[in-house]
Amino acid sequence: MRPMPDPARAPRVAFVTLGCKVNQAESDTIAAALPDACVVRDAAEADVVVVNTCTVTGEADHKARKAVRHALGLPNAPTVIVTGCMAALDAGGTAALGDRVIAEPDKKRVLDRVVEIAGRADTGRAGRRSRTRVQLKVEDGCDAFCSYCIIPYARGVPRAVPLAEIVATSEELAAAGVAEVVLAGINIGRYSDGGARLPEVIEAVAATGIPRVRISSIEPGDVDTRFLEVAARTPAFCRHLHIPLQSGSDAVLARMERPYDTGRFADTVAAACNALPGVAISTDVIVGFPGETDAEHRETLSFVEHTGFSRLHVFRYSARAGTPAAAMADQVPPQVRAARSAELRALGERLMLQTAGAARGRTAELLVERVAPARPDGVRRVEGTTREYLRAVVVHATAAPGALVRVRLGEADATGMVSSVVESLG
Ligand code: SF4
Repeated sequence: MRPMPDPARAPRVAFVTLGCKVNQAESDTIAAALPDACVVRDAAEADVVVVNTCTVTGEADHKARKAVRHALGLPNAPTVIVTGCMAALDAGGTAALGDRVIAEPDKKRVLDRVVEIAGRADTGRAGRRSRTRVQLKVEDGCDAFCSYCIIPYARGVPRAVPLAEIVATSEELAAAGVAEVVLAGINIGRYSDGGARLPEVIEAVAATGIPRVRISSIEPGDVDTRFLEVAARTPAFCRHLHIPLQSGSDAVLARMERPYDTGRFADTVAAACNALPGVAISTDVIVGFPGETDAEHRETLSFVEHTGFSRLHVFRYSARAGTPAAAMADQVPPQVRAARSAELRALGERLMLQTAGAARGRTAELLVERVAPARPDGVRRVEGTTREYLRAVVVHATAAPGALVRVRLGEADATGMVSSVVESLG
């Protein structure tokens, strides 16, 4: 029998979110619709745990199942609502994970499920939002069918959130004092609502007065003249682009069915740097794609190094059943994938430290995200992120999460955290 929440107190709901920024945006939206007192960080205190899953690779699937099993094993025996791509692709298999599992493929219904189970969650909905950074989903789905990716099968073709809805939400966020909005989607370059494409979304969101607007990720082909023109003339637009490379070998890119080669990618980066001086560009790379030779891996290392990315997210290829790549011959042995991943991660760390080092002496706007852990000197410090997505820490007696502080950047520590001083505007 399903344990019922204690009627004497508000039911507590925790969120475990895996995968991409779209999942994060969707979890945030559901949490924001619940009363403050209902949402807890620690799943061990929750009556209901919502696991928002990802299924982009075999490994992601494995992690999602593990998260569900972990939630089921908690001593408070919560009900576990599983949503996201795994529930969408395999609702039956997901529900079979346990008798306290509810598979809900439709994220729009998750809130109703929570309310049904928790009984009283509709009392005092508070519209709880972080004032710091909010992920705003503007698009869902993808029809690019890269050969390793299950997402087009799991999420279907691109669908745009209507521009009017995006503007209405952004106005609410601006009025609530939110400092930064991240426009998120599976493939936001595919945004299309009437005549509005991604550049129009950026302009419209910035026009609501939100101080900082950024995009979660953009495919190289969508970094076109119009996009760069709008980004350059929109002061709120943060000069950081995450452009997934996936491989620095043309042969591997072709097998991945990515619609560009390294020459085109390099031209895109050059155009972005030209239009947006000071822009930081981060990327994703998949190592150990089927058939990847040692020479192809070296091509990736060299391309990544020469492009000078600010940050690198390295993913070890893991076969996702149902994708063309999973059926390809020449799967790369796990130990080779692990070694290549370690090599690229080390390069990524080096590039991150180089980027932080090169920023030394510059002024930047820091969005304060949290009070830094106490140090022996007892001085209050806050941590946050610059517009270029550098992490920085500064001594500040009062700044609270959500504040924007002008700082001068100093030296970075081994983790890339930049020490900075408050810049007087006087
Ligand atoms: S662009 Fe490719 S990798 Fe990205 S979601 Fe679409 S199919 Fe997957």
